Formats: sequence, structure tokens, C-alpha cells
Amino acid sequence: MTDKLLKALAFDKQIRVYVLDATQMVTEAQERHQTWHTATAALGRTLVATTILAGTLKGEDRMTAEVLGSGPVGHIIADGNAKGDIRGYVANPEVALELNADGKLDVAGAVGLPGSLVIRKYISDTEPFSGQVPLISGELAEDFTYYMALSEQTPSSIGLSVLVNPDESVKTAGGFMLQVMPGATEETISTLEARLEKLGRFSDLLEKGLTLEELLIELVGENQYEILTEMPVRFYCDCSKERFAKSLMTVGREEIEAMIREDHGAEVVCHFCNEHYQFSEADLQELIN
Ligand code: ZN
Repeated sequence: MTDKLLKALAFDKQIRVYVLDATQMVTEAQERHQTWHTATAALGRTLVATTILAGTLKGEDRMTAEVLGSGPVGHIIADGNAKGDIRGYVANPEVALELNADGKLDVAGAVGLPGSLVIRKYISDTEPFSGQVPLISGELAEDFTYYMALSEQTPSSIGLSVLVNPDESVKTAGGFMLQVMPGATEETISTLEARLEKLGRFSDLLEKGLTLEELLIELVGENQYEILTEMPVRFYCDCSKERFAKSLMTVGREEIEAMIREDHGAEVVCHFCNEHYQFSEADLQELIN
């Protein structure tokens, strides 16, 4: 099953809707970074939110989300582009906290307040945009919602969900965003609010195995929507040995000579995907030449 992001309009184009299944993406992130369950949920929710926000971009545009809390996971960084290529990592992957009072993974405890959420957007032909808000809950859905309201002045409702199996593998991951478009009526907004009240937990819906369109119907109701697209999304990092070779060259000849002399090679690890690249003495010598 490929992960997909569904984009739709609802209530006569007054509401923009994104619904995401990111189970494979978060599974790959968990496996690559060997995260423990609370860190998996924190990183996974950040990846889900980044995928949804990146879904609002076009063409070659891309963005980065930084969750900078003061809890045990440390910083969480994710980036993504309009094509649905998303990657991310957490500073401290080995975090497994007790479940919270609701019996859920304690993402707020792992992220930790105080902190901030920083979003940077790189939109073609314009200056990079960056917005920052303080973390208000640490559960992340509320924090991304707050960011949308404050920095982008777009009233939104965001849901993020990651369920982890007892063996640390990812059971389901996904989320949604509803955005109120300019000109939306009070009636539409209150109808939607009432639906969201009754929705229950998004994770329960994902666990039932509903399709994206069925999830959309749960959110906005039957006959109320128009699907624009269902695009594939994935965990994808564009790093390569050649790229790291280029950045190694910037450390300078003496440093590289020291790597040959003292370490007989070098290993470079990509933060984003945890891929390990080995540079032999011969590889390093070639960089000097
Ligand atoms: Zn990488």
C-alpha cells in the first residue's frame, strides 16, 4: 500500500480538506532511525504535519518544520516538497515514556514545553518565508493548528495520529487538515465544528482501515465534497555519497589528510535518513587530488 495525500474541497469550496495515510512513511522513518515508541509518535506526527503542509505547496517549492521543545526527544526536523517527498529525524530516537493519563503515547512529555515551532518555506521567485510560534501543547496537532492561525492567518483544524505496536513497529499513521477559505459562512463553520466534535479519535478511524475517501466523508459528510487529487507521498531523502564528498571537500586538505592518517577513512551519516556512507583512504585521497 502506497501512502497517499487526498486533497479536496468541501461545502461549496468554502473548506479545503487534506487527508493523509502516512503509515509506510512513518514505518520507514521508525526503521531507519530505530526510534522507540514515544519518539516514533513525536517524529511521526511531525512527518504527517509536514506532509500535509507541503501538500499546500506547488512546483519546486519546499519547506522545513522544526519542533524545538525542551523534552527528552530534543529537536525534531522534517522537510518536504510539493511532490510529496518527505524526510525527517529526531535528535534523540531512544525515548520511551509511560503512557499519559489518557492511555496514549505521551508526545507532549517527549517534546516538552517551553519550546517553539519554526516553519520555513522556500517558494520559487520569492524570499524564503519563516514563521515561528511558541509550542502551546507539545502534542503537535494543536501546535501546528496554532501556527496556521497565527503565522498564516488561516483558521484550520489539524489532526495527527501515530499508533505503535507493542513490538515498536508502526501500526498506522495519518492525519488531516481542514482549512476555512475566505468567504466561508458561519453556518458552514458551525456545521463543521459540530461534525468534528462527534468525530472521535482519528486514530480509531485509521485503525478501522477506512479509505481516504471514507475518512473524508467522516470529516465533512456525504455529497459535500469534490476530490481534487490523490497524490502518492513517501519518505525520501536525496542524499548521496557524491553530495557528502562535496561537503567533505569544504573541510579542507589538512582535515582530510588527518582523516587518512588517523582514521584510515571516514564515515559520514545523513541526519535525515541515517544512511551511512564510507569513504576509504583511496576515496579521501581522490578528494585531495
Ligand atoms: Zn539522507
